[in-house]
Amino acid sequence: MQQFQAFKFELRPDGQQERQMRRFAGSCRFVFNKALALQKERYEQGEKKLGYAGLCKLLTEWRNGPETPWLAKAPTHPLQQTLKDLERAYANFFAKRADFPRFKKKGQSDSFRYPDPKQIKLDQSNSRIFLPKLGWVRYRNSRKVVGEVRNVTVSLSGRRWHVSIQTRQEIEDPRHPARSIVGMDMGVACFAALSSGEIIAPAHALKKRQRQLARAQRAMSRKVKFSNNWKKAKARIQRIHTRIGHARRDFLHKTSTAISQNHAVVVIEDLQVRNMSKSAAGTVDLPGRNVRAKSGLNRSILDQGWAEFRRQLEYKQTWRGGMVIAVNPRNTSRMCPACGHVDKANRKTQARFKCVACGHTAHADVNAANNVLAAGHAVMACGGDVRPRPHLGVGTAAPMKQEPTEATQIASAN
Ligand SMILES: [Zn+2]
Repeated sequence: MQQFQAFKFELRPDGQQERQMRRFAGSCRFVFNKALALQKERYEQGEKKLGYAGLCKLLTEWRNGPETPWLAKAPTHPLQQTLKDLERAYANFFAKRADFPRFKKKGQSDSFRYPDPKQIKLDQSNSRIFLPKLGWVRYRNSRKVVGEVRNVTVSLSGRRWHVSIQTRQEIEDPRHPARSIVGMDMGVACFAALSSGEIIAPAHALKKRQRQLARAQRAMSRKVKFSNNWKKAKARIQRIHTRIGHARRDFLHKTSTAISQNHAVVVIEDLQVRNMSKSAAGTVDLPGRNVRAKSGLNRSILDQGWAEFRRQLEYKQTWRGGMVIAVNPRNTSRMCPACGHVDKANRKTQARFKCVACGHTAHADVNAANNVLAAGHAVMACGGDVRPRPHLGVGTAAPMKQEPTEATQIASAN
Protein backbone atom coordinates (compact mmCIF):
# COMPACT_ATOMS: atom_id res chain seq x y z
CA MET A 1 0.00 0.00 0.00
CA GLN A 2 1.21 3.50 -0.72
CA GLN A 3 1.13 5.84 2.19
CA PHE A 4 0.91 9.57 1.56
CA GLN A 5 1.80 11.78 4.45
CA ALA A 6 2.29 15.46 5.17
CA PHE A 7 4.84 16.93 7.56
CA LYS A 8 4.35 20.52 8.59
CA PHE A 9 7.02 22.68 10.17
CA GLU A 10 7.44 26.31 11.05
CA LEU A 11 9.98 28.00 8.81
CA ARG A 12 12.73 30.23 10.17
CA PRO A 13 13.50 32.41 7.18
CA ASP A 14 15.92 35.33 7.28
CA GLY A 15 14.61 38.81 6.41
CA GLN A 16 15.45 38.53 2.74
CA GLN A 17 13.77 35.14 2.43
CA GLU A 18 10.68 36.35 4.21
CA ARG A 19 10.34 39.30 1.83
CA GLN A 20 10.73 36.94 -1.10
CA MET A 21 8.12 34.53 0.24
CA ARG A 22 5.68 37.41 0.54
CA ARG A 23 6.43 38.39 -3.05
CA PHE A 24 6.05 34.83 -4.33
CA ALA A 25 2.72 34.39 -2.55
CA GLY A 26 1.65 37.76 -3.96
CA SER A 27 2.73 36.76 -7.47
CA CYS A 28 0.75 33.53 -7.24
CA ARG A 29 -2.30 35.43 -6.05
CA PHE A 30 -1.88 37.91 -8.89
CA VAL A 31 -1.65 35.14 -11.50
CA PHE A 32 -4.65 33.33 -10.03
CA ASN A 33 -6.79 36.47 -10.04
CA LYS A 34 -5.67 37.57 -13.49
CA ALA A 35 -6.42 34.15 -14.96
CA LEU A 36 -9.79 34.01 -13.20
CA ALA A 37 -10.73 37.49 -14.48
CA LEU A 38 -9.76 36.40 -17.98
CA GLN A 39 -11.86 33.24 -17.80
CA LYS A 40 -14.82 35.22 -16.54
CA GLU A 41 -14.44 37.72 -19.37
CA ARG A 42 -14.26 34.93 -21.94
CA TYR A 43 -17.35 33.35 -20.46
CA GLU A 44 -19.30 36.61 -20.63
CA GLN A 45 -18.33 37.00 -24.27
CA GLY A 46 -19.49 33.47 -24.99
CA GLU A 47 -15.98 32.17 -25.61
CA LYS A 48 -14.68 28.81 -24.47
CA LYS A 49 -12.71 28.56 -21.26
CA LEU A 50 -8.94 28.43 -21.76
CA GLY A 51 -7.34 25.15 -20.82
CA TYR A 52 -4.31 24.76 -18.57
CA ALA A 53 -1.88 24.73 -21.52
CA GLY A 54 -3.40 27.94 -22.88
CA LEU A 55 -3.09 29.63 -19.50
CA CYS A 56 0.54 28.54 -19.17
CA LYS A 57 1.31 30.13 -22.51
CA LEU A 58 -0.24 33.37 -21.30
CA LEU A 59 1.75 33.12 -18.09
CA THR A 60 4.95 33.06 -20.11
CA GLU A 61 3.80 36.22 -21.90
CA TRP A 62 3.01 37.94 -18.60
CA ARG A 63 6.41 36.99 -17.22
CA ASN A 64 8.22 38.32 -20.26
CA GLY A 65 5.94 41.28 -20.91
CA PRO A 66 6.57 44.92 -19.94
CA GLU A 67 3.57 45.27 -17.60
CA THR A 68 4.46 42.77 -14.90
CA PRO A 69 8.21 42.20 -15.10
CA TRP A 70 8.32 41.30 -11.38
CA LEU A 71 6.52 38.05 -12.18
CA ALA A 72 9.74 36.78 -13.72
CA LYS A 73 11.36 36.95 -10.28
CA ALA A 74 8.97 34.38 -8.83
CA PRO A 75 9.69 30.68 -9.39
CA THR A 76 7.90 29.29 -12.45
CA HIS A 77 6.48 26.05 -11.07
CA PRO A 78 4.52 27.58 -8.19
CA LEU A 79 2.97 30.06 -10.62
CA GLN A 80 1.93 27.22 -12.92
CA GLN A 81 0.65 25.33 -9.90
CA THR A 82 -1.63 28.27 -9.18
CA LEU A 83 -3.14 27.87 -12.65
CA LYS A 84 -3.67 24.19 -11.89
CA ASP A 85 -5.42 25.17 -8.67
CA LEU A 86 -7.70 27.40 -10.69
CA GLU A 87 -8.42 24.53 -13.07
CA ARG A 88 -9.31 22.33 -10.13
CA ALA A 89 -11.51 25.05 -8.63
CA TYR A 90 -13.42 25.18 -11.93
CA ALA A 91 -13.68 21.39 -12.08
CA ASN A 92 -15.00 21.28 -8.50
CA PHE A 93 -17.50 23.96 -9.37
CA PHE A 94 -18.77 22.09 -12.44
CA ALA A 95 -18.96 18.86 -10.42
CA LYS A 96 -21.05 20.80 -7.85
CA ARG A 97 -18.50 20.15 -5.12
CA ALA A 98 -17.72 23.80 -4.55
CA ASP A 99 -18.84 27.34 -5.19
CA PHE A 100 -17.65 29.32 -8.18
CA PRO A 101 -13.95 30.18 -7.80
CA ARG A 102 -13.44 33.43 -5.98
CA PHE A 103 -10.74 36.04 -6.29
CA LYS A 104 -7.99 35.66 -3.73
CA LYS A 105 -7.40 38.43 -1.25
CA LYS A 106 -4.15 39.37 0.37
CA GLY A 107 -3.78 37.76 3.78
CA GLN A 108 -6.17 34.95 2.94
CA SER A 109 -4.34 31.69 2.49
CA ASP A 110 -1.10 33.24 1.28
CA SER A 111 0.76 30.25 -0.06
CA PHE A 112 2.63 28.70 -2.95
CA ARG A 113 3.56 25.16 -3.86
CA TYR A 114 6.66 23.62 -5.38
CA PRO A 115 5.40 20.58 -7.31
CA ASP A 116 8.72 19.26 -8.59
CA PRO A 117 10.62 17.08 -6.10
CA LYS A 118 13.76 17.25 -8.25
CA GLN A 119 14.13 20.93 -7.37
CA ILE A 120 13.72 20.41 -3.63
CA LYS A 121 16.44 19.28 -1.25
CA LEU A 122 15.68 18.28 2.31
CA ASP A 123 18.59 18.33 4.76
CA GLN A 124 17.03 17.00 7.96
CA SER A 125 20.22 16.68 9.97
CA ASN A 126 20.79 20.41 9.57
CA SER A 127 17.08 21.33 9.83
CA ARG A 128 16.98 23.07 6.48
CA ILE A 129 15.24 22.74 3.14
CA PHE A 130 16.34 24.00 -0.26
CA LEU A 131 13.63 25.67 -2.33
CA PRO A 132 14.03 27.24 -5.80
CA LYS A 133 14.69 31.00 -5.71
CA LEU A 134 14.75 30.97 -1.91
CA GLY A 135 17.82 28.86 -1.27
CA TRP A 136 18.33 26.99 2.01
CA VAL A 137 15.61 27.88 4.51
CA ARG A 138 15.84 26.78 8.13
CA TYR A 139 12.85 25.16 9.84
CA ARG A 140 11.85 24.04 13.33
CA ASN A 141 12.62 20.38 13.06
CA SER A 142 10.13 18.66 15.38
CA ARG A 143 9.80 15.22 13.80
CA LYS A 144 11.48 13.00 11.26
CA VAL A 145 10.21 13.16 7.71
CA VAL A 146 9.74 9.68 6.28
CA GLY A 147 9.13 8.67 2.69
CA GLU A 148 10.12 10.24 -0.57
CA VAL A 149 9.35 13.97 -0.98
CA ARG A 150 6.58 14.61 -3.53
CA ASN A 151 5.93 18.34 -3.23
CA VAL A 152 6.25 21.23 -0.82
CA THR A 153 3.81 23.98 0.12
CA VAL A 154 4.90 27.21 1.78
CA SER A 155 2.13 29.09 3.57
CA LEU A 156 1.60 32.02 5.89
CA SER A 157 -0.63 31.55 8.90
CA GLY A 158 -0.99 34.54 11.17
CA ARG A 159 2.51 35.96 11.20
CA ARG A 160 4.37 32.69 10.74
CA TRP A 161 5.51 30.91 7.64
CA HIS A 162 5.18 27.16 7.44
CA VAL A 163 6.34 24.46 5.13
CA SER A 164 4.28 21.37 4.47
CA ILE A 165 6.24 18.48 2.99
CA GLN A 166 4.19 15.80 1.24
CA THR A 167 5.79 12.38 1.04
CA ARG A 168 5.01 8.96 -0.34
CA GLN A 169 6.22 5.59 0.87
CA GLU A 170 5.45 1.97 0.25
CA ILE A 171 4.27 0.15 3.36
CA GLU A 172 2.98 -3.35 3.97
CA ASP A 173 -0.79 -3.76 3.89
CA PRO A 174 -1.73 -3.24 7.52
CA ARG A 175 -4.22 -5.31 9.51
CA HIS A 176 -6.35 -3.43 11.98
CA PRO A 177 -5.67 -4.63 15.55
CA ALA A 178 -9.31 -4.21 16.59
CA ARG A 179 -12.20 -6.37 15.40
CA SER A 180 -15.08 -4.09 16.35
CA ILE A 181 -17.51 -2.10 14.26
CA VAL A 182 -19.09 1.11 15.50
CA GLY A 183 -21.79 3.49 14.23
CA MET A 184 -21.48 7.26 14.57
CA ASP A 185 -24.10 9.97 14.64
CA MET A 186 -22.82 13.44 14.07
CA GLY A 187 -24.64 16.00 16.14
CA VAL A 188 -24.74 19.69 16.78
CA ALA A 189 -25.23 19.77 20.54
CA CYS A 190 -22.61 17.07 20.91
CA PHE A 191 -19.96 16.52 18.26
CA ALA A 192 -20.84 12.85 17.83
CA ALA A 193 -22.45 9.88 19.54
CA LEU A 194 -21.21 6.31 19.14
CA SER A 195 -23.38 3.22 19.01
CA SER A 196 -21.31 1.94 21.94
CA GLY A 197 -22.95 4.67 24.03
CA GLU A 198 -20.02 7.05 24.12
CA ILE A 199 -20.77 10.75 23.64
CA ILE A 200 -18.09 13.07 22.26
CA ALA A 201 -18.51 16.64 23.42
CA PRO A 202 -17.65 19.50 21.07
CA ALA A 203 -14.39 21.36 21.54
CA HIS A 204 -15.00 24.02 24.14
CA ALA A 205 -11.79 25.75 23.22
CA LEU A 206 -13.57 26.78 20.03
CA LYS A 207 -16.51 28.40 21.78
CA LYS A 208 -14.21 30.40 23.98
CA ARG A 209 -12.21 31.58 20.97
CA GLN A 210 -15.42 32.41 19.16
CA ARG A 211 -16.38 34.82 21.90
CA GLN A 212 -12.91 36.36 21.76
CA LEU A 213 -13.32 36.71 18.03
CA ALA A 214 -16.69 38.44 18.31
CA ARG A 215 -15.24 40.86 20.84
CA ALA A 216 -12.23 41.60 18.66
CA GLN A 217 -14.46 42.15 15.63
CA ARG A 218 -16.60 44.64 17.53
CA ALA A 219 -13.46 46.41 18.67
CA MET A 220 -12.20 46.70 15.10
CA SER A 221 -15.50 48.09 13.85
CA ARG A 222 -15.11 51.01 16.27
CA LYS A 223 -11.70 51.99 14.89
CA VAL A 224 -11.07 54.37 12.03
CA LYS A 225 -10.51 52.31 8.94
CA PHE A 226 -6.86 51.90 7.88
CA SER A 227 -5.63 53.73 11.00
CA ASN A 228 -2.84 52.16 13.04
CA ASN A 229 -5.24 51.00 15.72
CA TRP A 230 -7.46 49.47 13.06
CA LYS A 231 -4.51 47.58 11.65
CA LYS A 232 -3.60 46.33 15.11
CA ALA A 233 -7.17 45.19 15.71
CA LYS A 234 -7.16 43.44 12.36
CA ALA A 235 -3.94 41.61 13.12
CA ARG A 236 -5.44 40.50 16.42
CA ILE A 237 -8.48 39.06 14.62
CA GLN A 238 -6.19 37.12 12.32
CA ARG A 239 -4.30 35.71 15.27
CA ILE A 240 -7.55 34.51 16.83
CA HIS A 241 -8.54 32.91 13.53
CA THR A 242 -5.22 31.09 13.51
CA ARG A 243 -5.76 29.89 17.08
CA ILE A 244 -9.28 28.72 16.22
CA GLY A 245 -7.81 26.74 13.36
CA HIS A 246 -5.23 25.12 15.63
CA ALA A 247 -7.76 24.26 18.32
CA ARG A 248 -10.07 22.70 15.75
CA ARG A 249 -7.30 20.69 14.11
CA ASP A 250 -6.12 19.45 17.46
CA PHE A 251 -9.60 18.36 18.51
CA LEU A 252 -10.36 16.63 15.20
CA HIS A 253 -7.04 14.79 15.16
CA LYS A 254 -7.36 13.57 18.75
CA THR A 255 -10.91 12.39 18.16
CA SER A 256 -10.30 10.69 14.81
CA THR A 257 -7.16 8.97 16.15
CA ALA A 258 -8.96 7.59 19.20
CA ILE A 259 -11.87 6.25 17.17
CA SER A 260 -9.62 4.82 14.49
CA GLN A 261 -7.48 3.04 17.11
CA ASN A 262 -10.45 1.38 18.75
CA HIS A 263 -12.58 0.26 15.82
CA ALA A 264 -11.75 -1.67 12.66
CA VAL A 265 -14.89 -0.45 10.91
CA VAL A 266 -16.51 2.93 11.50
CA VAL A 267 -19.92 3.58 9.99
CA ILE A 268 -20.76 7.24 9.46
CA GLU A 269 -23.58 9.17 7.88
CA ASP A 270 -22.87 10.49 4.42
CA LEU A 271 -23.66 14.11 5.26
CA GLN A 272 -23.59 16.62 2.49
CA VAL A 273 -22.00 19.26 4.65
CA ARG A 274 -21.80 21.79 1.88
CA ASN A 275 -25.49 21.51 1.05
CA MET A 276 -26.50 21.76 4.66
CA SER A 277 -24.58 24.93 5.15
CA LYS A 278 -25.78 26.42 1.92
CA SER A 279 -29.51 25.86 2.07
CA ALA A 280 -30.06 28.11 5.05
CA ALA A 281 -28.90 31.28 3.38
CA GLY A 282 -31.20 30.92 0.40
CA THR A 283 -30.92 33.44 -2.40
CA VAL A 284 -31.86 37.09 -2.74
CA ASP A 285 -35.12 36.18 -4.48
CA LEU A 286 -35.80 33.28 -2.22
CA PRO A 287 -34.33 33.84 1.22
CA GLY A 288 -34.01 30.73 3.33
CA ARG A 289 -36.50 30.27 6.10
CA ASN A 290 -35.32 30.46 9.69
CA VAL A 291 -32.09 31.90 8.41
CA ARG A 292 -31.04 33.05 11.84
CA ALA A 293 -31.66 29.79 13.61
CA LYS A 294 -30.19 27.80 10.79
CA SER A 295 -27.11 29.90 10.38
CA GLY A 296 -26.39 29.13 14.03
CA LEU A 297 -26.70 25.45 13.27
CA ASN A 298 -24.64 25.71 10.13
CA ARG A 299 -21.99 27.63 11.89
CA SER A 300 -21.58 24.90 14.42
CA ILE A 301 -21.55 22.33 11.61
CA LEU A 302 -18.69 24.12 9.95
CA ASP A 303 -16.98 24.83 13.26
CA GLN A 304 -16.99 21.20 14.12
CA GLY A 305 -15.40 20.41 10.79
CA TRP A 306 -17.22 17.21 9.90
CA ALA A 307 -15.86 17.06 6.38
CA GLU A 308 -12.32 17.38 7.70
CA PHE A 309 -13.08 14.83 10.42
CA ARG A 310 -14.27 12.33 7.82
CA ARG A 311 -11.18 12.91 5.72
CA GLN A 312 -8.93 12.23 8.72
CA LEU A 313 -10.89 9.20 9.78
CA GLU A 314 -10.71 7.76 6.27
CA TYR A 315 -6.96 8.05 5.91
CA LYS A 316 -6.26 6.89 9.46
CA GLN A 317 -8.43 3.83 8.93
CA THR A 318 -6.68 3.12 5.64
CA TRP A 319 -3.30 3.27 7.37
CA ARG A 320 -4.41 0.89 10.10
CA GLY A 321 -6.09 -1.50 7.69
CA GLY A 322 -9.55 -0.50 8.88
CA MET A 323 -12.45 0.90 6.97
CA VAL A 324 -14.95 3.76 6.92
CA ILE A 325 -18.41 3.09 5.54
CA ALA A 326 -20.65 6.04 4.70
CA VAL A 327 -24.37 5.30 4.68
CA ASN A 328 -27.44 7.25 3.71
CA PRO A 329 -28.36 9.38 6.75
CA ARG A 330 -32.07 9.50 5.97
CA ASN A 331 -34.30 8.62 8.94
CA THR A 332 -31.45 7.50 11.15
CA SER A 333 -32.71 9.85 13.85
CA ARG A 334 -36.38 8.91 13.44
CA MET A 335 -36.35 5.15 13.19
CA CYS A 336 -37.02 2.84 16.09
CA PRO A 337 -34.40 0.10 16.21
CA ALA A 338 -36.76 -2.15 18.18
CA CYS A 339 -39.76 -2.25 15.84
CA GLY A 340 -38.60 -0.37 12.73
CA HIS A 341 -41.29 2.30 13.02
CA VAL A 342 -40.24 5.55 11.32
CA ASP A 343 -41.83 8.68 12.71
CA LYS A 344 -40.82 12.26 13.31
CA ALA A 345 -42.78 12.08 16.55
CA ASN A 346 -40.34 9.45 17.82
CA ARG A 347 -38.01 12.27 18.57
CA LYS A 348 -39.91 15.04 20.25
CA THR A 349 -36.92 16.50 22.04
CA GLN A 350 -33.28 16.83 21.07
CA ALA A 351 -32.14 14.48 23.79
CA ARG A 352 -34.67 11.64 24.08
CA PHE A 353 -35.93 9.06 21.64
CA LYS A 354 -39.31 7.45 22.38
CA CYS A 355 -41.00 5.24 19.83
CA VAL A 356 -44.68 6.14 19.44
CA ALA A 357 -45.45 2.62 18.21
CA CYS A 358 -43.73 0.35 20.72
CA GLY A 359 -42.59 2.66 23.50
CA HIS A 360 -38.85 1.90 23.13
CA THR A 361 -36.77 4.68 24.67
CA ALA A 362 -33.10 5.61 24.29
CA HIS A 363 -30.67 8.49 24.21
CA ALA A 364 -31.61 10.11 20.90
CA ASP A 365 -28.09 10.43 19.49
CA VAL A 366 -26.96 6.99 20.61
CA ASN A 367 -30.14 5.62 19.07
CA ALA A 368 -29.30 7.30 15.79
CA ALA A 369 -25.76 5.90 15.99
CA ASN A 370 -27.25 2.42 16.37
CA ASN A 371 -29.36 2.95 13.25
CA VAL A 372 -26.23 4.07 11.40
CA LEU A 373 -24.48 0.94 12.63
CA ALA A 374 -27.35 -1.24 11.38
CA ALA A 375 -27.14 0.39 7.97
CA GLY A 376 -23.40 -0.30 8.01
CA HIS A 377 -23.95 -3.98 8.85
CA ALA A 378 -26.33 -4.19 5.93
CA VAL A 379 -23.74 -2.72 3.61
CA MET A 380 -21.08 -5.13 4.86
CA ALA A 381 -23.42 -8.08 4.43
CA CYS A 382 -24.41 -7.50 0.86
CA GLY A 383 -23.57 -4.07 -0.45
CA GLY A 384 -26.49 -1.82 0.31
CA ASP A 385 -26.98 1.87 0.04
CA VAL A 386 -23.43 3.08 0.38
CA ARG A 387 -22.29 6.35 -1.09
CA PRO A 388 -18.55 6.51 -1.60
CA ARG A 389 -17.16 9.92 -2.33
CA PRO A 390 -16.24 10.14 -6.00
CA HIS A 391 -13.04 12.10 -5.52
CA LEU A 392 -11.90 10.57 -2.25
CA GLY A 393 -12.88 6.96 -2.21
CA VAL A 394 -10.09 5.94 0.17
CA GLY A 395 -11.26 3.54 2.79
CA THR A 396 -14.93 3.57 1.83
CA ALA A 397 -16.45 0.23 1.06
CA ALA A 398 -16.97 -0.37 -2.62
CA PRO A 399 -20.63 -1.07 -3.23
CA MET A 400 -20.93 -4.60 -4.47
CA LYS A 401 -23.60 -5.47 -6.96
CA GLN A 402 -25.79 -8.06 -5.37
CA GLU A 403 -29.47 -8.71 -4.92
CA PRO A 404 -30.76 -6.96 -1.82
CA THR A 405 -31.58 -9.29 1.03
CA GLU A 406 -33.58 -8.64 4.15
CA ALA A 407 -30.73 -6.92 5.83
CA THR A 408 -30.41 -4.24 3.16
CA GLN A 409 -33.91 -3.07 3.79
CA ILE A 410 -32.78 -1.30 6.89
CA ALA A 411 -30.23 0.59 4.88
CA SER A 412 -32.31 1.33 1.82
CA ALA A 413 -35.60 1.95 3.60
CA ASN A 414 -34.28 4.86 5.60
ZN1 LIG B 1 -40.58 1.01 18.15
